[in-house]
Amino acid sequence: MRYLVLTDIHANLDALDAVLKDAGRFGYDHILVLGDLVGYGAEPNGVIDRVIALEPLVIVRGNHDKVASGIEDADDFNAVAQRAVSWTLANLSPEHREWLAALPRGPELVDPLVEVCHGSPFDEDAYIFSELDALRALRASHRPVCLFGHTHFPAIYRLSDSRFDVSMEPTETPADIVLEEGWKYLMNPGSVGQPRDGDPRAAYAIVDETARKVTLYRVAYPLEEAQEKVIRAGLPEALALRLAAGR
Ligand code: ZN
Repeated sequence: MRYLVLTDIHANLDALDAVLKDAGRFGYDHILVLGDLVGYGAEPNGVIDRVIALEPLVIVRGNHDKVASGIEDADDFNAVAQRAVSWTLANLSPEHREWLAALPRGPELVDPLVEVCHGSPFDEDAYIFSELDALRALRASHRPVCLFGHTHFPAIYRLSDSRFDVSMEPTETPADIVLEEGWKYLMNPGSVGQPRDGDPRAAYAIVDETARKVTLYRVAYPLEEAQEKVIRAGLPEALALRLAAGR
């Protein structure tokens, strides 16, 4: 089985389409979506339509999906993110809002090897940034491979009975991570629609269960077009600028 893993698309249809085209070259059987389909970008309805058409095997909701569908308030979002939430609430079609509101909370078990969540396996909204967070997540995970998003940073951690390997960040892409026996892995492919690791290219991963490896990919997309749509939509200019910076 080969899974295409998508997270934090954030209403960036240009980035999503570039990823689908790129991943199509390598091939996959099913799609896993780790939440935050909307928020920040200018095409929430377009992204949701595309994701529905892809018929993901498993999908979990993100914090932006919750506030954009009105099932949670955005009190703890910063000012720019709150403006994006208001814009998304106003621009989502009622059908799309309902669909978003019905997305399941993670973690979700995909198969005997893989589990997915938005933030962490112990709390869908928790950010895994520190070694301590990662260790807690690895202990809480139910499968040898736990995939997460939310931070918009590619990251790889692993835990065995005697060792904990931290922040094995990919230094070049594509990056192959071979799944060794006796280890639990915790991996973030990075964000499709709003990378924050300084690389503006869209990020995604493919899990190959037969070959027992996970590959992290980056692909350039027409980001000027995504920026223009953000400006034209009346969303904060900062959201267009950060796409080019990858921050
Ligand atoms: Zn996000």
